[in-house]
Amino acid sequence: MVHVLEEYAKQHQVPIMQKEGMEFLLQYIEENQVQTILEIGTAIGYSAIRMATVHPNIHVTTIERDPIMYEQAIENIKKFHLEKQITVIYQDAMEVEIDGYYDLIFIDAAKAQYIKFFEKFKKNLTLHGTIISDNLDFHGLVFQPEEELSKNVKGLVRKLKKYISFLKENTEFTTLFYHVGDGISISKRN
Ligand code: SAH
Ligand code: MG
Repeated sequence: MVHVLEEYAKQHQVPIMQKEGMEFLLQYIEENQVQTILEIGTAIGYSAIRMATVHPNIHVTTIERDPIMYEQAIENIKKFHLEKQITVIYQDAMEVEIDGYYDLIFIDAAKAQYIKFFEKFKKNLTLHGTIISDNLDFHGLVFQPEEELSKNVKGLVRKLKKYISFLKENTEFTTLFYHVGDGISISKRN
């Protein structure tokens, strides 16, 4: 069933998680018995559906600001009968107020805002909670000489590099980086 979503994403260029990255994240959820998840960036609901399907006790709250994506996510979640396990919030993540605690916060939205998302939502982590971020390699562009990049891409790459430095230098959290899928980091509070 999920391959229908993968196929749709491919055809409509929706940037859902890459296969290996998705498997890596699902394995993390399973091994660490994650139960509550806050996701920034729903798109069509693919990763939320995959995460919720790991175990019936898991609840995912996911935030999406794009109206078309939001509508599609709602529809897909219904198709998978996961309405009880997934709550979609239709709002800009930088504007929404979330109170409640999550074992896992998954950042997978606008790359330029990753530091802001991290700073904003770290208060919503449970004691041993984790922040996982996706797309830190940005298709390998992060490792490419800057003069080879277009202006737009260069801006985003710089923002991502800033986020990576922010994580490396962070004294409150320790982060591990994995070059799996499109590049994933796992940050835990010290
Ligand atoms: N997690 C999804 C993919 C998300 S793609 C999956 O793997 O299946 C990124 C999504 O984040 C896009 O749909 C975009 O509209 C949304 N987004 C970007 N910035 C956002 C913000 N500030 N608040 C809410 N959603 C945002
Ligand atoms: Mg992603």
